Amino acid sequence: MSVPHPVEPWRIKMVEPLRPTTRAERGDALRAAGYNISLLRSEDVLIDLYTDSGTNAMSDRQWSALLAGDEAYAGARSFYRLRDAVRAYYGYEHVIPVHQGRGAENLLSRCLIRPGDHVPGNMYFTTTRAHQELNGGTFHDVIRDEAHDPSCEHPFKGDVDIAKLERLIADVGADRIPYLSLAATVNMAGGQPISMAGLAAVRDLTRRHGIPVILDAARAVENAWFIKQREPGWGDRTIADILRAMCDLTDGATMSAKKDSYANIGGWLGVRDPELAERARELVVLYEGLHTYGGMAGRDMEAVARGIAESVEEPNIRARVGQVAYLGGRLADAGVPIVRPVGGHAVCVDAAAILPHLPRAEFPAQTLAAVLYLDSGVRAAERGAVSAGRDPATGRDRFPRLELVRLTVPRRVYTQSHLDLVADSMIRVHEHRTEITAGLAFTHEPSTLRFFQARFTPTAEIPLLT
Ligand SMILES: *Cc1c(COP(=O)(O)O)cnc(C)c1O
Repeated sequence: MSVPHPVEPWRIKMVEPLRPTTRAERGDALRAAGYNISLLRSEDVLIDLYTDSGTNAMSDRQWSALLAGDEAYAGARSFYRLRDAVRAYYGYEHVIPVHQGRGAENLLSRCLIRPGDHVPGNMYFTTTRAHQELNGGTFHDVIRDEAHDPSCEHPFKGDVDIAKLERLIADVGADRIPYLSLAATVNMAGGQPISMAGLAAVRDLTRRHGIPVILDAARAVENAWFIKQREPGWGDRTIADILRAMCDLTDGATMSAKKDSYANIGGWLGVRDPELAERARELVVLYEGLHTYGGMAGRDMEAVARGIAESVEEPNIRARVGQVAYLGGRLADAGVPIVRPVGGHAVCVDAAAILPHLPRAEFPAQTLAAVLYLDSGVRAAERGAVSAGRDPATGRDRFPRLELVRLTVPRRVYTQSHLDLVADSMIRVHEHRTEITAGLAFTHEPSTLRFFQARFTPTAEIPLLT
């Protein structure tokens, strides 16, 4: 399935040096980080595919917009520019700025969730579910089964399974479901999109039961791209049109502008209901900042506003998704098992398939990510049992079916030769997979979002890991 590398619709006008390291230096760095790639210093990383969040390269137009930032505490011009961009491209009347996506999740969860409530979603996201649980809600995964099967080629693996949602409504009652949390391109499934038809079906059912739909819009533009490519009837529409049509089927959105919007920081909560907006505006002052900056500097709001407009430009989104497809194609050609089809922001390597001999309790994905770093200095992210954490009710580890090493591609940052280095290293590690006979065990386990700050030790001494 060899995929050509896209021609980038930009050229480079500023560069940042990369620092190569030796195998011995990487071993020292990994031990100092407790075998957790999250705790590595960026200086010790050659190609950083930990996340596409806030790691974007901004355009010259965004950089020049920074200088126009209005840093007034109250009523900054930059806020109105951001609000107008969100209204124009996403269509939500009320826009509450926040420092990043989880700030919006906090406000929304506090406003809507009461203890004992149930929140359905198309697969969990780490911070989203953590805020729902913090406010006494219970998360229910209502994504279609195909999403949990890495090799299934379904074009819209992110869609909600309507029967699962109906069953939940029947079980707990619509009045205990404050909203449905709907992710566009499902991060934890490997960047898998939802379809417009699936979204319309969700809208129909939830409207009948009076349940609001809140979109996680972090990568809704990438989702719009997949709808344009894959869903009959949408091929001739612009990305901006499709994005707006998606949002029109929802009641509100939480946004991490560190994703689609090419910014390094920022986010917003967008809603239609004026009463909900009023409550969120009261809370934003407590948790983020005044309702006209919400934790962002005026210049950040300018960069986000500009980035929103760039994000729906077709050459940008085509090259972005195309670059991810190129990396996926190289790995697939070499027989490395990856989540199919390749998602919008990342190639997810199936660690459970590569290391079937390791028990899940020794964290195959965390282990594989450590070995990859030692091999070449490439940093990936773990998206498996470490990220899934423990069940708050039973205290036991959650073992999701997907045990993934996520190679997440920052926007406009790396070139084809960087991605070739990543592919070569991953292919080499895959060839040596049978030598990975030990995994990792916790030496320190934080109680929430443990993947960020946990520390580990190898369960046995093996050359590839020590
Ligand atoms: C990144 C992300 C968030 C949280 O946003 P932050 O800006 O990191 O706080 C929420 N949902 C999804 C799908 C994300 O990828």
